[in-house]
Amino acid sequence: MSRIAYVNGRYVPHTDASVHVEDRGYQFADGVYEVCEIRDGRIVDERRHLDRLDRSLSELSIRTPFSRRSAGMILREVIRRNRVRSGLVYLQVTRGVARRDHAFPGPEVPPSVVVTAKSVPVERGDHAASAGVKVITLPDNRWDRVDIKSVSLLPNVLAKQKAHEAGAKEAWFVDDAGLVTEGSSTNAWIVTKDGRIVTRPADHGILRGITRTVVVEAIEGEGLTLEERPFSVAEALEAKEAFITAASTIVMPVVAIDDRPIGNGHPGTIASNLRAKFHTYAEQSELVAN
Ligand code: PMP
Repeated sequence: MSRIAYVNGRYVPHTDASVHVEDRGYQFADGVYEVCEIRDGRIVDERRHLDRLDRSLSELSIRTPFSRRSAGMILREVIRRNRVRSGLVYLQVTRGVARRDHAFPGPEVPPSVVVTAKSVPVERGDHAASAGVKVITLPDNRWDRVDIKSVSLLPNVLAKQKAHEAGAKEAWFVDDAGLVTEGSSTNAWIVTKDGRIVTRPADHGILRGITRTVVVEAIEGEGLTLEERPFSVAEALEAKEAFITAASTIVMPVVAIDDRPIGNGHPGTIASNLRAKFHTYAEQSELVAN
């Protein structure tokens, strides 16, 4: 079955799906995006993802190109046409196509919208989670508005590549004070020896991950203890457990940081339990795909 993408009002074969060379996303990375998990044919946490999209757009003064209802319809149609039961749906909005000039184009230029969806077997993530993943640490060299989910991801791309070259799955960014900010595409967490779960406050230093928000609720719901405060690489190396969160990975145990084992070097029980419980706390849409 061939894949279908949504591009500016049309559903087109994925292989032909393209935007203009003067799309400001292509020229300036002048756009924002969201990634939602699709699980059992349902969109996970759609409301929160679309709320965050609205916020990212408004922070960058990009007009919201659709109503909430039509955004939902486009997401569903792309998922349905690609018959995705388990996987990811990607939504990108840029400031549109205009003659190249750094300053914003006029209000007559409509934002560009792209939506794609892909199947990812549930077992792939579960398999990775049963082994756990390795992370490396790198200086955080990003701009100070990483709270906006912008497609301007070059430092994140370079960091992820460095991680892969080091045989790791993720890179944790570290600020000038030696404190972990977040991963290149995930939020970062540790569990202290006495069982407190620690993650950096979602101020301007990190993206407020939707998975992070749900895990905070899961921690409360499960009667666990949360401490929202920054932690250092040194503290992480002494932690009982570590894990990362994102819509694409859910809760993923971390078993080594910079090649040093965390805890007993195996996925921790708190991380594994939060992974198992995650979808009972997340919001699920009605059934989209069978
Ligand atoms: N931080 C960064 C830098 C990310 O790119 C992502 C994933 N897009 C996250 C955190 C996790 O966000 P979410 O849980 O909403 O996927």
